[in-house]
Amino acid sequence: MTDQTSGASERSPARPTVRVLPRRHQRVKAGHPWVYSNEIEMTAALKALPAGCVVDVVNAGGEPLGAAMFNARSLVAARMIAPTAGIDLDRGLIEERLSAALVLRDRIVDAPSYRLVHAEADRLPGLVVDRFEDVVVIQSNTAGMDRAEADVVAAVDALLSPRAIVLRNDSPVRTLEGLELGVQVAKGELDGPIPLVENGVRFLADLSGGQKTGWFFDQRDHRAAVARVARGGSVLDVFAYTGGFGVTAAVAGAREVTMVDRSEAALALAEQAAEINGVVERCRFVRAAAFTELEMLAASGARYDVVVIDPPAFVKSRKDLSAGSRGYVKLTRLAAKLVAPGGFLFTASCSHNVSPELFGELVAKGLETAGRSGRILRSAGAGPDHPVHPFLPESAYLKGQLLQLD
Ligand code: SAH
Repeated sequence: MTDQTSGASERSPARPTVRVLPRRHQRVKAGHPWVYSNEIEMTAALKALPAGCVVDVVNAGGEPLGAAMFNARSLVAARMIAPTAGIDLDRGLIEERLSAALVLRDRIVDAPSYRLVHAEADRLPGLVVDRFEDVVVIQSNTAGMDRAEADVVAAVDALLSPRAIVLRNDSPVRTLEGLELGVQVAKGELDGPIPLVENGVRFLADLSGGQKTGWFFDQRDHRAAVARVARGGSVLDVFAYTGGFGVTAAVAGAREVTMVDRSEAALALAEQAAEINGVVERCRFVRAAAFTELEMLAASGARYDVVVIDPPAFVKSRKDLSAGSRGYVKLTRLAAKLVAPGGFLFTASCSHNVSPELFGELVAKGLETAGRSGRILRSAGAGPDHPVHPFLPESAYLKGQLLQLD
């Protein structure tokens, strides 16, 4: 067996350096975690570096700005990992940052199911880790994190000793970094849907085939807020997925809940969740296309005390902005028509290209065209286990609004 420590230092080549163009270093110096490819002196040598390798970043005068993961193929060419040059994204650093993330989550979330790592805001750029009690899903979205994957898995294992670890590397954003898509089980096995508890309600998540990592922890607080106003009332949960809003509302005492989604597999898990929480008699599951179903319900004169609209991102890229914006207006209009006077509407957007201000305007426009008004009770983003880097406001992708309509 070779001595890993001395072997590594003997073998490691001189550390590559990325030079930021004159006057373009101020943002990084101030703590911004990204350097764009048009802000650096791109050389043939940099282009030849393995995607995701760790580099030192210096200003035009050669003064160090810190250490970063570098990918010449990505628009975000360098993602800072520390304000100190020479730092490596090694097992020690990953474990230290994971531990800090864990201490924070244990303080802010009641049950051991949450987003444990939210990328840049947890000082692990491009890394998402979701914990479902003793099962962990890891999602790497950058070349640098892919290179560190073995250390990430080892650090998660050392910290939590989960019975299974899933690598859910199938997010389309990976293609921006030139990475392949795939799902693997890195430890243990997945024997079907995995249980979790949220707001005291039991759910099941499909960690290998479900949306994103299998569960949307970001809506936890919104689900609790909706459930509070749903007690005793009728609820229509559109884009229900596995029942996050609908089943929470039923457990809180909603009289009847209709969950609509186009995915049979998602609705099957919603139904199982309703069963294990003892509320299945008050729940209905409708497999349908959302817009068609909303129009059909409006035409039939249906009214609900609470309508929840939680669609997938309509604005995946900037070019979709106007079509997507029209989609949010239309959805709000259709949903608002179904809210009984004095009832509640919850609506959300997870498009990071739609700012909170724009979302507010689109919701207002939808209400206006529906001829409805009322009051905003809650306007918020994702829960605190999805922290936002203060210099990356665009990473605050989720917007949710709870309104009472007259
Ligand atoms: N509200 C859910 C998350 C919704 S994710 C929760 O609290 O967990 C978006 C969901 O919308 C997915 O389940 C997807 O199957 C569904 N969906 C996407 N487009 C749809 C459409 N046109 N009609 C109906 N459902 C749709």
